[in-house]
Amino acid sequence: MLPADEGDALWIEYDGDDGRVHRVLVDCGRKTAYRAVRARLATAERAGESLDFDLFVLTHVDADHIEGAVPLLGDRLFPPDRVRDVWFNGWRHLQGERVPPDDRLGARQGEYFAALIRDRGFAWNAAFDHRPVAVEEQGPLPTATLAGGMRLTLLSPTWPRLEAMREAWARQLRDRPVGHPDHIEPGDWRKALEVLDRKPALQPDALGSDWVASWDPARFDRYAAAPYAEDAKEPNGSSIALLAEHGGLSVLLAADAFPSVLEQSLARLRTERRLAAPLPVNAVKLSHHGSQGNTSPEMVRAVRCRHWLVSTNGTRHQHPHPEAIARVIEGARGRRPVLHFNYRCDESKVWDDDDLRVERDYSTVYGPREGGLRVELES
Ligand SMILES: [Zn+2]
Repeated sequence: MLPADEGDALWIEYDGDDGRVHRVLVDCGRKTAYRAVRARLATAERAGESLDFDLFVLTHVDADHIEGAVPLLGDRLFPPDRVRDVWFNGWRHLQGERVPPDDRLGARQGEYFAALIRDRGFAWNAAFDHRPVAVEEQGPLPTATLAGGMRLTLLSPTWPRLEAMREAWARQLRDRPVGHPDHIEPGDWRKALEVLDRKPALQPDALGSDWVASWDPARFDRYAAAPYAEDAKEPNGSSIALLAEHGGLSVLLAADAFPSVLEQSLARLRTERRLAAPLPVNAVKLSHHGSQGNTSPEMVRAVRCRHWLVSTNGTRHQHPHPEAIARVIEGARGRRPVLHFNYRCDESKVWDDDDLRVERDYSTVYGPREGGLRVELES
């Protein structure tokens, strides 16, 4: 979990069946994350190597996931021939369209993302025949196997979530008339990102206000039992969430997805795989940085997992929220859950409490104050 401020940038490496190291990057926000990725690419270049990526996933369009992806896609150290595929649902995918690789569009209209992906010749949703990355209502969940043998199963988004995003997108674009500095046309990615970042209405809400000031470990049970109300932000709902499996190990990469969508897909997966019990996974990257609206008690119980990963430095939204973390600790009781925080920040360090750890039977791992945590899974 690279330092990404309040966002995500997940650098995944695994030993492939071919004996080589394989790499997947999931999101690259914010600019801090771009600098961390670039530093790694530059170090490799100085050593005379270049790093290949099997896949780059842009889970959704919130700035805390995508801001650093814009400069990265344009960076000479991240050339298209080193990136086998980019998964990202662009404006045209939200319409359900296929965007064929030879279709040159958008640069003139300022479709920044499309332009970068296309003009530099990145593969785009190639594993999905250039169609939207989406879970259909019927049939088996979509899967893709990367060159090194890692198998990815798509858990989110579903079509209703993409349609909601499309409507939200168009609605937001209509709120400023043509000529206004904030006016954007659908598909004008560069402008859209710029405006999205300035729009508090599109940011996840900071309902928690200042919970850190009133933190009290004795309130644990109240946090754990607080009624759950699901996130309703359309961009989060449009998140690409994946189950990544290789060499007997698995990680659920939840992006900022809705737990209700994940639970449904996990239930389908249990049916497909004829599992009577919750799906065993080695690690879960918590949805939406540990927000209280994106970790439901049911979601925690839908998997059998010890390692729970949280990516955020607590800025802007005061994530992770204690209700989400308390639900994880309660729901994973008996499995001695381990919480991995990529930043030691005010919001995460409240869990660094000996009494609470003993009483609730969990442990904690922290990245440094400046962020960044390597989590190693071994079978
Ligand atoms: Zn996010």
